[in-house]
Amino acid sequence: QPILEMKKISKAFNGITVLDNVDFSVKKGEVHALMGGNGAGKSTLMKILTGVYTADSGDILIEGKPVNIRNYEEAQQNNISMIFQEFSLIPTLTVAQNIYLTREKKTSIGLLDDQDCEKKTEKLLEELGVDIKPDDIVQNLGVGYWQMTEIAKALSQKAKILIMDEPTSSLTKTETEVLFSFINKLKAKGYSIIYISHRMDEIFEICDRITILRDGRYITTETCSDTDLDKVIQHIVGMEFDQAFE
Ligand code: ADP
Ligand code: MG
Ligand code: MG
Repeated sequence: QPILEMKKISKAFNGITVLDNVDFSVKKGEVHALMGGNGAGKSTLMKILTGVYTADSGDILIEGKPVNIRNYEEAQQNNISMIFQEFSLIPTLTVAQNIYLTREKKTSIGLLDDQDCEKKTEKLLEELGVDIKPDDIVQNLGVGYWQMTEIAKALSQKAKILIMDEPTSSLTKTETEVLFSFINKLKAKGYSIIYISHRMDEIFEICDRITILRDGRYITTETCSDTDLDKVIQHIVGMEFDQAFE
């Protein structure tokens, strides 16, 4: 059973359909790429999943159970987290403060003191195999580690499904490699990742499956090991690759 199913999702803005009966399903422990040209509907589908928009019709199921996601809090309650492209961290605070302090108010556990935060963070980072320390100041870390701190923060909020939108766009090659080995660890721990990118090389390296949208329609879901670049490009542009250049 998939951890996430989006079924027959439709959405129109001002009478213009941007998603037309789109299906999307993610398994536990997989990295699933969402692909499609500009305007295909990827961001809109993810905004529906995170409660930014409400679908006109269709269902969202988590572990087979229908859920209502009307805002981001409800997405988080359903173990869905967006890893924002613009990092939401406070650079002058430590990793631990970023992961715990800024949110404890909301959860009404009461504020934890720095020591508690650092202990909890140390345990979390150790579990995740992330090579940073709880008292590292975020602005002194490379941008790749900012992202890992973001991911650790999401996981501390019990996220099981992470949405990553162009996660490597501001990373160097080395930082990308570090992120990918981290993603592989997350996979092995059973987390699911929705990976939005235009970088085919990266998708074939890190993703298990690809779902392709075109003009707001679901086209296909392919297993990366059973498909190739040409086929994927054909699905994205919607015609024979050679014809596209005639
Ligand atoms: P992608 O992320 O695949 O590039 P989007 O989901 O951003 O595609 O956009 C799909 C279509 O929906 C585009 O034609 C876009 O202009 C339109 N769209 C997205 N959000 C809105 C909105 N809030 N109001 C009107 N049109 C929108
Ligand atoms: Mg776009
Ligand atoms: Mg987009």
